[in-house]
Amino acid sequence: MQAIGICQKCSRVLKNPESVSRGFGPQCWLGVRPLAGQVAISEAALSNFECRMVDGVLVIIDLDIGGMSVTNNIDAILRQISEEQGVDLIKHAVPIVYRDSEGHFDGVRASKKGARFYPLSRQPVLDVESAVNLLKKKVGVT
Ligand SMILES: [Zn+2]
Repeated sequence: MQAIGICQKCSRVLKNPESVSRGFGPQCWLGVRPLAGQVAISEAALSNFECRMVDGVLVIIDLDIGGMSVTNNIDAILRQISEEQGVDLIKHAVPIVYRDSEGHFDGVRASKKGARFYPLSRQPVLDVESAVNLLKKKVGVT
């Protein structure tokens, strides 16, 4: 028999046993755990970044305070976030945007073969709200 639950945030039906025991779907759980302003420092990678969920999109900000840029280390960082939060970003196809050290936002496509960055717009995207909205349109999340 399969346990079924309801996400405490968005009320969707949960079937994944891990999600059922947490009481949240993967995207909603990411929003519950890494609270705004959380700084995760990857010791192995020495990249300094901040991540938080905005409207169902994982936003990763390169803090640009030394260390390796997130751009060059994105796979290690996505792995770390997956491990720390217990949510496989690739498996659950979590929508991701990244702000590089120049302040420009790009989309991130996580994949086992290596993450890829892609432009959100022909113009540079400089604020979180625009980045999240453009990404949601690209990936078809409403
Ligand atoms: Zn949910």
